[in-house]
Amino acid sequence: MTSPLQGKIAAITGGASGIGLECVRQIAASGATVYILDRDHQALDKAREELGERVHTIEVDLFRYETVDRAIETIVSEQGRIDILHVNAGAYIGGNVWEGDPDKWDKMLNLNINAAFRSARAVMPAMMKQKSGDIIMTSSIAGIVPIPAEPIYTASKHAVQAFAHTIRRQLAPFGIRVGAIQPGPVVTPLLNDWDPERLKANIEAGAMMQPSDVAEAVVFMLSRRKGTVIRDLVLLPHSFDV
Ligand code: NAD
Repeated sequence: MTSPLQGKIAAITGGASGIGLECVRQIAASGATVYILDRDHQALDKAREELGERVHTIEVDLFRYETVDRAIETIVSEQGRIDILHVNAGAYIGGNVWEGDPDKWDKMLNLNINAAFRSARAVMPAMMKQKSGDIIMTSSIAGIVPIPAEPIYTASKHAVQAFAHTIRRQLAPFGIRVGAIQPGPVVTPLLNDWDPERLKANIEAGAMMQPSDVAEAVVFMLSRRKGTVIRDLVLLPHSFDV
């Protein structure tokens, strides 16, 4: 049976590492052409070498509107359309607010929510013209449950949820579907800032997921029949520590 993703054109932000990279692998393996939008040029080169001709890379700084807009314009001019945007890039910082570095908080918020807005906004004209398109956002369990050890991250992911829910309504009349996935902790470089004891305890307790768990769920979400909505999906390990 042909995969519902066969022949689709997809863009994934932050697709050069962790969850994004595994989504690139699995979405491309399902028959789509995938563009990775990321700023890490070494990781982009590596991904392109590893993943073959159905995977393209564009070096993008998601902090800047013009580079995001240009990347989407490139995809549309090369492929004639864009069917899928996976808004995935994000950063993580935990800890007490009064001890945190405000510059780091600002950058994290800029990436987690402002860049989500920048990339979603950039695909809207093309998807509206096509009268079709799917936008998936990698939110987090912190997008629906306040995590006391992670106040600013929690705030950023609640904002992503609110953004996804509101544009879902605005874009539905144009045939554009929007969904968010809310994973619990996943073993990726994002958690390098986690307290090592917390990480160790969670790994030992089996309370961490792998990027492939999230990627399989994203492929499932994107494979919903045409004419149906994309449901949000909470994805948790069998036990987890907030
Ligand atoms: P990661 O650190 O492995 O990958 C993040 C990617 O984003 C990197 O390739 C990085 O180069 C890119 N990036 C960062 N800033 C950028 C910028 N300004 N411009 C372009 N690219 C930029 O992270 P991950 O764990 O795979 O996280 C992906 C998403 O999943 C994030 O939104 C994160 O919040 C979310 N998430 C992660 C976990 C987890 O436990 N790892 C759990 C739930 C949700």
